[in-house]
Amino acid sequence: MINSIATPFTFSQSNLQNWLICRRRFLYADIQHLAYPAPVTQPLQRYEQAQQRGEIFHQLAHQYALGIAPQALQVPDDEGLQVWWQRFLQVQDANLLNLPLRRFPETLLLTPLGEHVLLAKADLIAVEPRSRFIIADWKSGQPVPSQQLATHIQTRVYRYVAVLAGSVYNDGELVHPEQVEMIYWFAQAPEKSVRLPYSVQQFNDDHQFFLNLVRTIQEEQAFPTVFEDEKERVCRFCVYRTRCWHEVKTGELTNDQDFPLDLELSWDGDDLSADAGGFTQALESEF
Ligand code: SF4
Repeated sequence: MINSIATPFTFSQSNLQNWLICRRRFLYADIQHLAYPAPVTQPLQRYEQAQQRGEIFHQLAHQYALGIAPQALQVPDDEGLQVWWQRFLQVQDANLLNLPLRRFPETLLLTPLGEHVLLAKADLIAVEPRSRFIIADWKSGQPVPSQQLATHIQTRVYRYVAVLAGSVYNDGELVHPEQVEMIYWFAQAPEKSVRLPYSVQQFNDDHQFFLNLVRTIQEEQAFPTVFEDEKERVCRFCVYRTRCWHEVKTGELTNDQDFPLDLELSWDGDDLSADAGGFTQALESEF
């Protein structure tokens, strides 16, 4: 079995998040692409329904950003989805997020990271050249406090990559960290949207962080599981739990509040390893 990363390896917020949660998960999902048929949660139907709604919402937002008139879009007869969609249109029509008019939906940004590549797939980039570079991320899950998002790996990856790879959307000019801002917009609670500006200091910190992280990943050989006393908390929503521990039960979802933060935030489309097993497949679509 392969037990080290290939060179070049494509890092993304999804696989780095796996690494930060559990090195063994990174090994199984992102190096060995190990398919494992355990459900992510139970009831599985609830999880799948939430994921499917999110996917549809995401597709609608993408079509809207491409310029398709809202009247021409087919919104399924699903009350929750209809509410989200109306909120989204209100925000867009009134430009409540104050987004610049030059917009690029579903945009891939890539930058070298040592011998490897770091990738971010933004729901929307909105640019005022040489002035503002906004990355917008639409979330269908429960709102997350700004303190948690400020240090989350997605925020760190997206803002960092925007500086290094964003010039093509900025009239060829380098993007300065202070031009960059990340917005998380929550369909369930638009008033709790989070705006996270960036700074030179944060960029420098991220630069060192990512270089150190990649070096550590390259040198890893054991890819340990989480500690015994963490397994009930961390492993219950991981598809590899029966491979690592027989006794950990599937995490249960009783309502939308139960979605754990890492699962919710990791429903993102920037992981290119679509064959990386059930967990990573679950990550393929944020909505
Ligand atoms: S079950 Fe737990 S220890 Fe095993 S890969 Fe998943 S998170 Fe890691």
